[in-house]
Amino acid sequence: MRLSRYFLPTLKETPAEAEVVSHRLMLRAGMIRQASSGIYSWLPLGLKVLQNIEEIVRREQLRSGAQEILMPTIQSADLWIESGRYEDYGAEMLRITDRRGREMLYGPTNEELITDIIRSDIKSYRDLPKNLFHIQWKFRDEIRPRFGVMRGREFLMKDNYSFDLDEAAARHSYNRMFVAYLRTFQAMGLRAFPMRADSGPIGGDMSHEFLVLAETGESKVFFHKDMDALAIPGDDVDYDGDLQPIVDQWTSLYAASDEQHDAANCPVAAEDLNSGRGIEVGHIFFFGTKYSKPMGAVVQGPGGDEILVQMGSYGIGVSRLVAAVIEASHDENGIIWPESVAPFRVGLMNLRIDDAGCTAAADDLYGKLQAAGVDVLYDDRDERAGAKFSRMDLIGLPWQIAVGPRGLKDGIVEVKNRATGERIDLSPEDALARFATAK
Ligand code: ATP
Ligand code: MG
Repeated sequence: MRLSRYFLPTLKETPAEAEVVSHRLMLRAGMIRQASSGIYSWLPLGLKVLQNIEEIVRREQLRSGAQEILMPTIQSADLWIESGRYEDYGAEMLRITDRRGREMLYGPTNEELITDIIRSDIKSYRDLPKNLFHIQWKFRDEIRPRFGVMRGREFLMKDNYSFDLDEAAARHSYNRMFVAYLRTFQAMGLRAFPMRADSGPIGGDMSHEFLVLAETGESKVFFHKDMDALAIPGDDVDYDGDLQPIVDQWTSLYAASDEQHDAANCPVAAEDLNSGRGIEVGHIFFFGTKYSKPMGAVVQGPGGDEILVQMGSYGIGVSRLVAAVIEASHDENGIIWPESVAPFRVGLMNLRIDDAGCTAAADDLYGKLQAAGVDVLYDDRDERAGAKFSRMDLIGLPWQIAVGPRGLKDGIVEVKNRATGERIDLSPEDALARFATAK
């Protein structure tokens, strides 16, 4: 992509309304613009990151055996009246009346709708287990939308729902998500810790929030220091096998956010306890028959008896993750994208547009990088080199290649690693080979 054609409205000034670094950088890097309170438009650079994150979430869900569906954003109030949540949900729910006077709502979550789908089409124990996910916009009229997309009113969420015959099977479904979540966040360059969360009236140990450490996190978190060293399951993980040992390894170490943590009764000695602030990026939750019971989601068991379906739900804040990655990975000059979510892998800069030799060399390298399948943003604008360097640092692409007349005299271009700041001189051919071959 040529920058001269790209819609990248970067800002030099720090927007006054942004309190946290991710919000500031997302505005400055031209990733998002506010449409109204807690509601954002995603501009090209921001959308690319959002889509990359979405794709990692999707890939890991599919790998774990979940199947993708797409449910609508608008739901009928009837289902929520049936489950008993229509009144309880309160002012966070955006309620709409259609032209026929029917009560509708913009979905804040999808337990009711998915339970309706399952009760209509799953009739036998033989059809279980099932795990269905979708990635869809949600609306919650948050009392205090803030920190940009971190706590928006409209936000993109991956949510899925598991349906099992009994609690043992439901535990396996839960464990699959537990493992898939560990892998998902790691694939975005994040270290997210599972923390025991409130499991509601049914109790038990099957509710965990996944939090990424960041100074600006909304929750205070406490966790055993050994958690840092725990390994994330690799590509060879067998989702059909016994995942309990992996889950036990994580859950046997103490970890809780402030809602659950009780300093007086903490089982970990003070010297072994780390604390910090965390951003909740995911939540997994087993709730048994909470919805299947009022909504009558039953299957016929092997003996012909009716059995209520056991359910769990699992959320990931896809749009919140864009901000969480920035909170975890930036410096005073801007964003530092991990390669897996970066909007472009390489930022190529022509430092002297008015120098015919320089422009020819930069154009040539751009064409060859593109032909080699490298996702590259090419700064071909007529601007000072200094402005180009600071814009590239701001938008955080993992690699920068600077083509200038001085280097070209010696047959070299400068390649910079955004994360480490390390610079190396390479011939244009070697620079091409560096990105065309190595990932
Ligand atoms: P929170 O305590 O942050 O309000 P929640 O418990 O309401 O979260 P869930 O209903 O479990 O959240 O939703 C699943 C995920 O969706 C959360 O883990 C979070 O990452 C994301 N999420 C929830 N609310 C918002 C929001 N207002 N803006 C952006 N992402 C959100
Ligand atoms: Mg909430």
